[in-house]
Amino acid sequence: MGADEVRKVTLIPGDGIGPEVVGSARRILEAAGAPIEWEECQAGAEVFRQGLPSGVPAETIESISRTRVVLKGPLETPVGFGEKSANVTLRKLFETYANVRPARELPGVTTPYSGRGIDLVVVRENVEDLYAGIEYMQTPGVAEALKLISRKGCEKVARFAFELARAEGRGSVVCATKANIMKLTEGMMKRTFEEVAADYPDVESWHLIVDNCAHQLVKRPEQFDVIVTTNMNGDILSDESSALVGGLGFAPSGNFGDDVAIFEAVHGSAPKYAGKDVINPTALILSAVMMLRHLGMFAAAADVEHAVLVTLESGVRTGDIVGYDKGASTTAYTDAIISNLGKRSERWQVRDYRPIRLPRMAPGAAGGPATSRAVVGVDVFIEASLAADELGKSLEELVDGSSFALKMIGNRGTMVYPPTGAITDLADHWRCRFVPREEGSSVGDEDVLDLLRRIGARHAWMHVEKLQTFQGEQGFTRDQGEN
Ligand code: NAP
Repeated sequence: MGADEVRKVTLIPGDGIGPEVVGSARRILEAAGAPIEWEECQAGAEVFRQGLPSGVPAETIESISRTRVVLKGPLETPVGFGEKSANVTLRKLFETYANVRPARELPGVTTPYSGRGIDLVVVRENVEDLYAGIEYMQTPGVAEALKLISRKGCEKVARFAFELARAEGRGSVVCATKANIMKLTEGMMKRTFEEVAADYPDVESWHLIVDNCAHQLVKRPEQFDVIVTTNMNGDILSDESSALVGGLGFAPSGNFGDDVAIFEAVHGSAPKYAGKDVINPTALILSAVMMLRHLGMFAAAADVEHAVLVTLESGVRTGDIVGYDKGASTTAYTDAIISNLGKRSERWQVRDYRPIRLPRMAPGAAGGPATSRAVVGVDVFIEASLAADELGKSLEELVDGSSFALKMIGNRGTMVYPPTGAITDLADHWRCRFVPREEGSSVGDEDVLDLLRRIGARHAWMHVEKLQTFQGEQGFTRDQGEN
């Protein structure tokens, strides 16, 4: 597809300041001669008010399925209408698995880091992890969230990060995880990243524990090129990165999936500024620049990016930077950028970009490499207002004569029975681990059902988890103090 071919793009003005920032970006792209035909569609507050609980009408979904590229304004999640965020609905419907958030120093936007040349990109896994929002109250006082991380999800986002590094001429990719504590979930990202890295010997790569990554970002942010990470880590690290270079008014983003890409500012609908012609449209304009590159319109992207840089260099700035009594209006700032199209910044570089090669993986539920598995025990989660010792003795009595023996009881991850001498505060929520009485014998579903019947005769259980090994490797964690 040639860069001059007209491409259709779904345009969602959004809520609050959305129509102003989207309108600004649209005017600039049109003035730059980008060959785009817009399909304007609705989503967000107005749609919720009309009674559609998803906030995204069928016509909008159809348009996106056709155009596969979206430029959108922020969508408000009104309290009292609808249940879900329309933003999250869009991201999930089109499985945009990689959220890309660049943070670079800009002229005239003074921060404590000015002059250090920050120019990095956070690639955040966008559809898995704790943000799947699978949560349960397990007792009236204990809540649980499931952190689901798939090998396939990790591989897609890790490959995406390396491909992005190549496309943008960046030399390194850092993976940030909490694999030292969450060895299976966060560890999955670390291990997969290290495997994928072997296919990209031209890009330097290393792993950082996420808390150190946050610390390094404040201490020496210029060391980073691309950071790839799991969803919740990425949420936090990308906001931190935006703050280093001037905050929300300057933070663009793209959400990339196999088929659809959605470009939007990181900020929300900032309702108090809506309709006042004062807000900063740069974040949305730079999101539109990312979109132009995604569409292969590299020359138009460079023109717009240079025009933004020249405008900021010339001292035209909006109220969020210089004060709302002194700042340029959104319209005047947009006009200034349009008048600077065709000019090149002398001091501020625009990178050379190449098309990004999206990783293609076989469709369907790709499993891990395991070919053999065994069930070696079962954890039963029980609610009980007893002392650990009393619960332990009761369970031992209940399973007497069954195929199971009680191995241990843990309370929020610390083994408390058999007693270890640990001095720990307790909740009424216990993880009770049972293993076959005869070492090495296999566990069948009938054995588990018999175990639950026995426990249920005296105690309230709310959750059961099989303990499995894959290729002989333990697929579960031990409690603190458990051997
Ligand atoms: P917000 O809309 O991002 O606004 C928070 C503050 O950030 C504003 O009050 C303003 O700060 C500053 N700000 C944001 N955008 C700016 C811009 N373009 N120019 C200058 N300053 C800007 O966050 P919120 O108030 O938490 O959320 C409002 C609504 O937006 C909520 O309904 C939320 O659900 C939604 N939201 C949507 C998205 C999305 O669509 N992707 C993302 C986030 C939030 P000062 O007050 O200091 O001037």
